[in-house]
Formats: sequence, C-alpha cells, structure tokens
Amino acid sequence: MAVKFTILGSGSGGNCAYLETDETRILVDAGFSPRQIRQRLATISRVPENLTAILVTHEHSDHVQGLIGIAAKLNIPIYCNRATKEIGDLLVDTFAIPHDAQDPVGYLLRTPAGNIAFVTDLGHMTKLVLERIRPANVLVLESNHDVKMLQDCPRRSWSLKQRILGRHGHLSNEAAAEAAAQIMSAELRHLYLAHLSRECNKPELAHYVMNERLHQIGATHVRLQTAAQDVPCATLVL
Ligand SMILES: [Zn+2]
Ligand SMILES: [Zn+2]
Repeated sequence: MAVKFTILGSGSGGNCAYLETDETRILVDAGFSPRQIRQRLATISRVPENLTAILVTHEHSDHVQGLIGIAAKLNIPIYCNRATKEIGDLLVDTFAIPHDAQDPVGYLLRTPAGNIAFVTDLGHMTKLVLERIRPANVLVLESNHDVKMLQDCPRRSWSLKQRILGRHGHLSNEAAAEAAAQIMSAELRHLYLAHLSRECNKPELAHYVMNERLHQIGATHVRLQTAAQDVPCATLVL
C-alpha cells in the first residue's frame, strides 16, 4: 500500500496534517476544533477513531486546539518531545526550532516511501534545522508573511510585529525561499508553503516569491503548492 499525505489545513488560524502508511495513521498537529478535524478527515474518508498517534510541534492554540478533544477522548497517544521514535513503520526524527513556545519542534518523518519534513513556526533558519530537513522528499515549510505587508498592517500592534519578525517569531516569504535554496536537492520533489498569515500575506505572493527562487536556482523538478487555511490540499500519494 502507498504512503498517503494530506495537509488538512494550514495557516495562522489552524494547522493539521494527516499521514498514512501501511502500519500507522497519524496527525501532525491538531489545530482545529475536534469537529473540524473530523469533518476534514471525512473529506478523505478517514475517521479520528483510527489514528495511531498525534504528533505536536508546540503548544500554541493554532496547533493544539483540538488535541485534548480528540486524543483524550479517543485515547490516542500524543508525542511532543524531542526524542527520535518509531511508530510502526514510521521513524520520527524530532529537532528544535527557534520559536517563542515551550520546546517547539520540527519533524522529519521517515516513511517506507520517502521522507516528509515539517518546519513551521520559526523565527529564523538555523544550521541544525537545515541539516535535519535536507533528506526531505516532501517539505512543508512556513512562508508566513510578506515583510512589507506585515510592517504596514494597521491591525497589528508594534510589539506584535516585533514578535513575528523576531528571531523566535515566524518565517517570511523571502526567508522561506532562501531556506529552500539552501537545502535544494534532486530528491526534494514536493514543497508545500504553509502557515501563511491571513492578513500579512497572499497565497499568490508567497507562491511567486518561492517560484522565482526555484527557477533562479534551476530547481524546476520541485512541485510547488500552497497549503490553504480553509480546505484540505489534494492527497499526495508517495
Ligand atoms: Zn506558534
Ligand atoms: Zn502556528
């Protein structure tokens, strides 16, 4: 059976992705209400009752809103520490990311069909993160904001802007493009832009900035997609 991967939704308003292998069915983050998660899983004919585990990147509400409602109620194990672990035929590599939360992590999920990396919610790229996501065949990468749109946003306070732009805030479109260029390899086939800000970014803009960079470095083999907040991405079969 193939490995199937579906981003159920991503953005400042909630994050959740579903991954299925022969032996495991997991969520990465549970940042929607339990009801929303159930509805989004239903669009791919899956139910939360069959989950093997839920991996959590950090405790901000856009990543854990539905966690207790699903995990505690259905007795599904939660993984959120930094150790490497094996869940069935899935090897989970965890690494630290610079973000203003309690021990936030990124993931490299090694499946029998390829490696999927998750890096959202980080203020800047570190050598460690670049090194850990380099083996990815599929990369889910934060492309949170356009710096100018954020600076000009009238609905954000100065201190919040400083937080987002800071070393432990969120990754801009430009910083995401730079990171992708640094880890580019022939093995990276799918790149998902994730965790876009609703007010300080536009999907077309994030896509444009990354696409320009990929062309600049000749990385035309990469399939670039932008994850949406409101609807799941098409399922990727690895
Ligand atoms: Zn966060
Ligand atoms: Zn977040």
